[in-house]
Amino acid sequence: MADATDNSICPICRQGRFSRVFLQTCDLVTATPFSLLECDSCGVKKTAPFPEDLAQYYQNEMGGMMRQATSDLHLFLKNFLLRRELARIRRSFSPGEFLDIGCGTGDFARIIRASGARVSAADSCGQKPCLLETADIPYYSIDYNNYSLEGFPGMKDGLVVLRHVLEHIREPEVFVNRMIDHGANSFYIVLPDISSSASKLFGACNFFLDPPRHLWHFDMKSVETFCRQLGLTVVDSGFDTIPLVIPSLYRHLRIRKTPQWLYRPFAPKGAIAAVSLPLDWLLPRNVLWVLVRKQKG
Ligand SMILES: [Zn+2]
Repeated sequence: MADATDNSICPICRQGRFSRVFLQTCDLVTATPFSLLECDSCGVKKTAPFPEDLAQYYQNEMGGMMRQATSDLHLFLKNFLLRRELARIRRSFSPGEFLDIGCGTGDFARIIRASGARVSAADSCGQKPCLLETADIPYYSIDYNNYSLEGFPGMKDGLVVLRHVLEHIREPEVFVNRMIDHGANSFYIVLPDISSSASKLFGACNFFLDPPRHLWHFDMKSVETFCRQLGLTVVDSGFDTIPLVIPSLYRHLRIRKTPQWLYRPFAPKGAIAAVSLPLDWLLPRNVLWVLVRKQKG
């Protein structure tokens, strides 16, 4: 059983240790058990055990879901929210260029490009995502094992977009420093909030836990501590509300091993999840975001 605590120093705050089991759950596809361990200083949660080979957990429909085209309604809602997110970034920063890492279908990169900005996109897939095939947006393949961006020429005064990415990264601190080496001087980071009221209510069924694809589980305190440790200043921050009630019902049904016909309608990118957003407003602010800048010198 994956319930052992871990005496290593927390790489997020470089102070605490993972001395407490926060909760126990499992991978909804393979039913492999996982625990979430909590840092006794910054409060970040870490999935344990960290799988040696993560690739196998992405080679199923949960991995495919991140790149798949979605329902029209979901797409419409997402595009509306992404435009709002770009406006949010622009209120604080005017970067020379953007790099959207973990670009998925490429929807955000397209919105950034349509606004007239220079943008590159990157993801683990060797092939350019469908939405970027006809767009004037360079695409690079990123290796999440060593964080190399094959062929990337580097950038000047760049802003790196990390929407729902950092929770998947084995060594978030090494990864962010690597992006700084590539010329990033600001970041837009979006993460599920493990301390939201919805996360607390749903417990092990919280769709955002998604172990072991999610290795880290942040809240505002732990992400701010993380950024400070890396010499990044928080310029702006806040919370958003995205569909979580229906996806958590989906996770619950998958964990309970119900038949496919029963859980399928509640798929996280389906129409029911999209129209259920008003339900999530009852337990709002389930996602956090920060805009951070590299300190001078
Ligand atoms: Zn910590």
